[in-house]
Amino acid sequence: MKKLSIWQNALNRLKTGNGNFVNDNLYNKFQDSIRRKDVLDGQNPFAVILTCSDSRVVPELIFDTGIGELFVIRVAGNIANTSTIASIEYAVAHLNVKLIVVLGHQNCGAITTALTGDNNGKNLDHLLSFIQPAISLSDSKRVDSVSLIHTKLTADKLIVESHIIAKAIENDALKIIPAYYNLESGKVDFFE
Ligand SMILES: [Zn+2]
Repeated sequence: MKKLSIWQNALNRLKTGNGNFVNDNLYNKFQDSIRRKDVLDGQNPFAVILTCSDSRVVPELIFDTGIGELFVIRVAGNIANTSTIASIEYAVAHLNVKLIVVLGHQNCGAITTALTGDNNGKNLDHLLSFIQPAISLSDSKRVDSVSLIHTKLTADKLIVESHIIAKAIENDALKIIPAYYNLESGKVDFFE
């Protein structure tokens, strides 16, 4: 049997954890004082998750994980800007993480706000400008369609904008997978 690569094992752990979450069967491991002590001297997360700040999208729960397992970057609209890319680069270069999941979601408020095109002041408008390419590419201009396109574009952008990420992928040492979280079912669809 072919040996699974590290990123495939990481992806399988996410899928198994998400199955537990969907079925209301969370294991709740690694969330206690013993775990805190075990990881006191260092972290060894098995995946990076770039996702939205939406309070309904909680990666550690969605994937049934505990302390020190996921390196999570959350920003409204799960955008790839200098800060989020730099955070991912840290995880890749310094923590040796082999899997990045860009997790968009259903009914995203940031996407909805970007679609209205209203003036939201310089800070929020700057953030929402990162969603414009997906809006341009979407025929329907529906929020869930734009969200999915945006998530895939963001995954691509990580490679274009980061030498560290591009190099790791070139060396077969890293995988990026866009994914989509369904609010009601709790299920994550991975686009491998
Ligand atoms: Zn959102």
